Amino acid sequence: MTDDEDVVVAGGGLAGLVAARHLAEDGFDVTLFEREPEVGGRVRSTHADGFTFDRGFQVLFTSYPAARRELDYEALDLRSFSPGAVICRGDQRAVLGDPLRDPGALVPSILNREVSTADKLRTLLLKRELAGKSLDDIWSDEDATIEQYLAARGFSERYVDRFVRPFYGGITLDRSLSTSKRVFEFTFKLLAEGQTVVPADGMGAVTDQLADRVRDAGVTVETETPVEVVDGESGDATVEVPGETVDADAVVVAADPDSARDLTGVDAVPTEWKGCVTQHVALPAGHPLADSDRIHLNAESAVPNTVAPMSGVAPEYAPEGRELVAVTTLGTPDRPSTDLAAAARETVAGWYPQASLGEFEVLHTHRVPFSQFAQPPGIHETLPDARDPDGPVYLAGDYTHNSSINGAMDSGLAAADAVRADLQ
Ligand SMILES: Cc1cc2nc3c(=O)[nH]c(=O)nc-3n(C[C@H](O)[C@H](O)[C@H](O)COP(=O)(O)OP(=O)(O)OC[C@H]3O[C@@H](n4cnc5c(N)ncnc54)[C@H](O)[C@@H]3O)c2cc1C
Repeated sequence: MTDDEDVVVAGGGLAGLVAARHLAEDGFDVTLFEREPEVGGRVRSTHADGFTFDRGFQVLFTSYPAARRELDYEALDLRSFSPGAVICRGDQRAVLGDPLRDPGALVPSILNREVSTADKLRTLLLKRELAGKSLDDIWSDEDATIEQYLAARGFSERYVDRFVRPFYGGITLDRSLSTSKRVFEFTFKLLAEGQTVVPADGMGAVTDQLADRVRDAGVTVETETPVEVVDGESGDATVEVPGETVDADAVVVAADPDSARDLTGVDAVPTEWKGCVTQHVALPAGHPLADSDRIHLNAESAVPNTVAPMSGVAPEYAPEGRELVAVTTLGTPDRPSTDLAAAARETVAGWYPQASLGEFEVLHTHRVPFSQFAQPPGIHETLPDARDPDGPVYLAGDYTHNSSINGAMDSGLAAADAVRADLQ
């Protein structure tokens, strides 16, 4: 490689940031164009009046191999959820923990009458089986829906309805459990092998750290600069941004799937989406849900599907004397935010009838219709490869791997590896 080879990265989500950093560290002259005023794509946070609002309820699994490679966890000052969850139904609350990792959850988990002993044993067996299965095997094994997979293993409908639908429905944004069982195995294994965390300063701190590393590596970052055209057919690559045509030796298109398909014409880029609505709500100090460090699952309805005690886990998410919870409803409901909040208030009041909810003040509502691309069984074999576009144009983005922080970061590295190999 000569030191004057230029690479353009179109899109500054996790995938684009990872690709840009690796390419710059390899000695390429890298410019990253981001359409929005800030980088981060789907992983960003805003801060207001001492509260932190992530762009939808999101968490990092510390066991994500790509996150371990790309991030400095210590600097992120991570705060952990307790393993497992609180299953809520009417005024019944039942802790389903992981007694092997959290001895405090042993007694309530054994006593938990929402889940039968047989299903608890099946869960432990599955944990042992997946501990011995590699991630490569998980992503290449035969596929089925999560619902079919659990039924084949003998899990009861009651367990699936009360625990799996809200818990894995929350992870896959699909309470029908029609998502690929590979996503279930991947998340089940990694949940068991690490912690579920958020940075003290919000999930946006993940992006901020990657963005700092990108700038330290010498990448030129231009925000509010949409890439309008990418052309690699003549052998060299050109990129059109407003008022300028930029020549490059290679272009990595790391935009979201819809933009990536428009820019490259690659048909294999997926088109179906799963969305959600997250409302950030202030609860009175001392409310037992807000004080908890476990995600609460709605065993009865998807409105809301989960309530996560953000300041219970990370006190930095709320100012002194206030508490913040993230209330998530799946899908893209037409209902106004006030309706969703009213349903959530009623639900939480039912779970904790003795505790006053005060104003149940909705501070922020995020509707994210394009949260994850849909991952039905078999989709992962059909996803595009980094080299699918014509000429020296490459793809990066979760949609080349799987819809997760890990998938996005791995895709960025894969695109950087492909550029390096081809230009050398
Ligand atoms: C609400 C929600 C909850 C989630 N929960 C989790 C979770 O708990 N755990 C987990 O692992 N994953 C979760 N995910 C998924 C995860 O956030 C994504 O898989 C990942 O962030 C995708 O990163 P990306 O870089 O591939 O794409 P994106 O983040 O979409 O980045 C694409 C970037 O390209 C930019 N762009 C688009 N077009 C152009 C253009 N023409 N020119 C220049 N720039 C352009 C966009 O502005 C954006 O910044 C969640 C996502 C959401 C939204």
